[in-house]
Amino acid sequence: MPSEFDVVVIGAGTGGYVAAIRAAQLGLKVAVVERQKALGGTCLIWGCIPTKALLEHAHALKVVQNVKEWGVTIGEGAVGIDMNQVQARKDKIVTGLTKGVEFLFKKNKIEWIKGTARITGRGKVEVTDGESQSLSATREIVIATGSAPRSVPGVEIDRKRIITSDEAIGLREVPKSIAILGSGAVGVEFASIFRRFGSDVTIIELLPRLVPVEDEAISAELLKSFKKQGIKIHTGTKVTKAAPSATGVDIEAQLPDGNVERITAEYLLVATGRGPVTTGLGLEGQGFNLERGYIAVDDLFRTGVPGFSALGDVITFGSGAAPHPQLAHVSSAEGIITAERIAGQPVKPINYDHVPGCTYCDPEIASVGLTEKEAQARGYDVRVGTFPFGVLGRAKMAGETEGFVKIVADKRYDEVLGIHMIGPRSTELVAEATLALRTECTVDELIHTIHAHPTFAEAVAEAAHAAHGAAIHI
Ligand SMILES: Cc1cc2nc3c(=O)[nH]c(=O)nc-3n(C[C@H](O)[C@H](O)[C@H](O)COP(=O)(O)OP(=O)(O)OC[C@H]3O[C@@H](n4cnc5c(N)ncnc54)[C@H](O)[C@@H]3O)c2cc1C
Repeated sequence: MPSEFDVVVIGAGTGGYVAAIRAAQLGLKVAVVERQKALGGTCLIWGCIPTKALLEHAHALKVVQNVKEWGVTIGEGAVGIDMNQVQARKDKIVTGLTKGVEFLFKKNKIEWIKGTARITGRGKVEVTDGESQSLSATREIVIATGSAPRSVPGVEIDRKRIITSDEAIGLREVPKSIAILGSGAVGVEFASIFRRFGSDVTIIELLPRLVPVEDEAISAELLKSFKKQGIKIHTGTKVTKAAPSATGVDIEAQLPDGNVERITAEYLLVATGRGPVTTGLGLEGQGFNLERGYIAVDDLFRTGVPGFSALGDVITFGSGAAPHPQLAHVSSAEGIITAERIAGQPVKPINYDHVPGCTYCDPEIASVGLTEKEAQARGYDVRVGTFPFGVLGRAKMAGETEGFVKIVADKRYDEVLGIHMIGPRSTELVAEATLALRTECTVDELIHTIHAHPTFAEAVAEAAHAAHGAAIHI
């Protein structure tokens, strides 16, 4: 006899585990099948948490490297980084958080079934590789199997020299040199980590600019800062070949002018995006609409196959739609909506224009809403306001004066359409920007929202003033 539940969730990442907790809160009997040794998925074990822990180490090193400026005296000798201690601290943070999810499962009486799930029919899941058993879901099976790193043609990941973020988070020595393929969030975060730790870093990006999804002004500012930090950058450049050797990787890249550049590095980190995890899940022949391996869903995460929902990194809204953002907070928001829908609660679709995106490189980047170009493309009569952090007292005190806040607004109704930031604490300041978009705030309302002094947040208010052509401090 299969063990019976109301809901069976496959995958305990930030999408699946949050869906499970919300469903249990609403009185449903829930099981989660997860094959990794810990709960939390990519975010907690391989992604957000370990990378941001490493970035905090890089930040600590930056502060210590500049102690003289701060008048702090420390003993003689070179300042360095002990990677074993870095890894130990990072692992402790990851374990603490994954155990925290285990605790939440116990608290909410959610059963963690350890093993690999395979769908065998409506309401039916077989678990293998671990606690082999049959499960039945009387209401819904939620597919939240996430994503895994993928490469590009000509570059075969060997996980030794040609590595992914999964290996990069665990390096026990600072590489002498590392080439990074791709300058999205993952690529530029690792560039910041390894450059600060002392590596010779080269970024190779196929598109003409760094962080290609961000506003063009943000890309230009990051390029300026990265160059100042000594990071080598090749944009508009295509890697055609990468061959691992015992000591490193030989890379062939085609530059924008057609010339071939040979780059050697100890490691090549492939950060060219992630693909869906659906292999072996048993989706074939069940009526799912799969697009390039992603599971197509509607705006309430229904797959079109009765009794099956899907959410998080594994989904697409279809070929005509904008790409689904692969972000932890997006998957969690989708998990909550899915659980509430299954429990019969009223739910509304997510407005993906209001999803904040953060990149924790140095300087930090955060944005929400439309870029200037996107707003123009949608036909808005656009006005922008930009304010540099460097003018602010708080930024001077912190010694972090790079970057700016840029507001994109609609001239006609004065509505804020997008807020883009690069610079100190941007990943925190974006919370205000997100609320501004969510509440359809006008530039005038932002101007008349009093911002405490001295804070980094003053840059948001001043950028609003600037959008009305009247910044006070520039
Ligand atoms: C290096 C890196 C840094 C990142 N940083 C950030 C960040 O700062 N902020 C942010 O918002 N996002 C970040 N992300 C993205 C974020 O981690 C993902 O968007 C998020 O984890 C997606 O959650 P998910 O639940 O959809 O899938 P996942 O977290 O991938 O979870 C899926 C789970 O399903 C399990 N699974 C798969 N198939 C089966 C099966 N058949 N049976 C049993 N279990 C199965 C997997 O083991 C996995 O645990 C980062 C990603 C990476 C790689």
